[in-house]
Amino acid sequence: MPRPPAMPPRDLPPGVTSALAGLDLPACATCGACAGDCPITGLEGLELDIREVLRLLATGQLDPVAESRFPWICTGCGRCSVNCPADIDIVSIMDALKARRPRDKVPGTLHKGTIATLETGNCLAIPLDDYLQTLADMGAELAGEECPGFYVPVDKPQADILFFPNSKEIFGDFDDLKWWWKIFYAARESWTVPAQNWEAVDWGLFAGNRAASLEFARRKIEICRKLEAKTMIMPDGGGASYGCRLGLKACAADDPAAGIDCVYLYTYLVNLIQSGRLTLDKSRNAGKTFTWHDSCKHGRELERHFGYGYYDEPRWILSQCVDDLVELKPTRGHNYCCGAGGGNWPLPFEAESAWHGRFKVEQIRNSGADVVVVGCSTCHDQIMKRLPKFYKGECSYQVKFLWEVVAESLVLTPWTGAEIARGQAEAAAQWERYGIEPDSF
Ligand code: SF4
Ligand code: SF4
Repeated sequence: MPRPPAMPPRDLPPGVTSALAGLDLPACATCGACAGDCPITGLEGLELDIREVLRLLATGQLDPVAESRFPWICTGCGRCSVNCPADIDIVSIMDALKARRPRDKVPGTLHKGTIATLETGNCLAIPLDDYLQTLADMGAELAGEECPGFYVPVDKPQADILFFPNSKEIFGDFDDLKWWWKIFYAARESWTVPAQNWEAVDWGLFAGNRAASLEFARRKIEICRKLEAKTMIMPDGGGASYGCRLGLKACAADDPAAGIDCVYLYTYLVNLIQSGRLTLDKSRNAGKTFTWHDSCKHGRELERHFGYGYYDEPRWILSQCVDDLVELKPTRGHNYCCGAGGGNWPLPFEAESAWHGRFKVEQIRNSGADVVVVGCSTCHDQIMKRLPKFYKGECSYQVKFLWEVVAESLVLTPWTGAEIARGQAEAAAQWERYGIEPDSF
């Protein structure tokens, strides 16, 4: 006969459960496993740990937690929930707390970025002409370098792939635009990007603005339908791949007819390689040791919310590009967050985020890797820029995107004269239609 619990769970005050994403906090056994696994436990000046946060919430004290820094410094990494005996979805609770913050009190630029995306279609409010000019110029540069006939198709109807750019790359990280483009070129892909509402990243997810997230997903569905694209790819990690998937799932739940095909970026790359559309040369990466960093939102959190985490696919893709691949420890669902998840890259909690990332520095150093490969632009910036700034002399590694390693390993089969001529003619017609003159290279 099962033993009764020592202290029967009490009912929460009215409204509290619904305010916390419907989660049953009295199920918490107060064991502290969550706080033990949370990298921000013990952060100097942080008055609470996650177990204490949950105790406050379980007694109905929402506002002291919602008004604290905790939900924002929390990166939503989900490590706390992995060993929770009550299987409490702590990240969803943090999201619900972020949503309680009055919008003018959301820290940093998260609310501003959300509003900019709602009003202009991208979080940096980049005007249409600048966006198009960047696509035209960088496309022409790639065509001149090694991909004759290449251009970036904009709003091309009936493409197989609808691809959403990341505003950071359009704004300034120009070279990072080219990795995916080179892959599309090598695979002779039928693809396009949208002219409007092109931001890949769901800033609503970071800001705790669910209505905005839904609107971003709804717009993506609308573009996909209007252009009659076969499927969409969200590049990148938390805000893009994960946030968009959450939004699409919610849209489909509200309206089953809204369901739209969205291929996961890793599945897409695996398919391209396995079907022989890409040829890769491992010798380009000889002499270096590589490691893979599992982003929380590609693995652990995706597994929790969608039933499947992408652990094997990126490792397989990397194994097609490099010979020397080592694991970080712990790995896969137990991997440490880099410290910038949950919108922490632009938040004004830089030291806190770097402190969170101290385990990442240690993991990389212990692995002996020369190159850390990532699938998320926030992980990329955090591991490449912020961690070396705070851990001087301890970060002697390079950081590359997975699609960068693939692009650098590509053996391009030259386009025929007819293919090049067709690409050049399509580019000329498109840019004339938009009134854009690409730079010549
Ligand atoms: S691990 Fe789960 S059960 Fe234990 S204190 Fe944390 S939330 Fe409660
Ligand atoms: S999601 Fe990560 S940072 Fe947030 S409480 Fe859990 S372990 Fe800590």
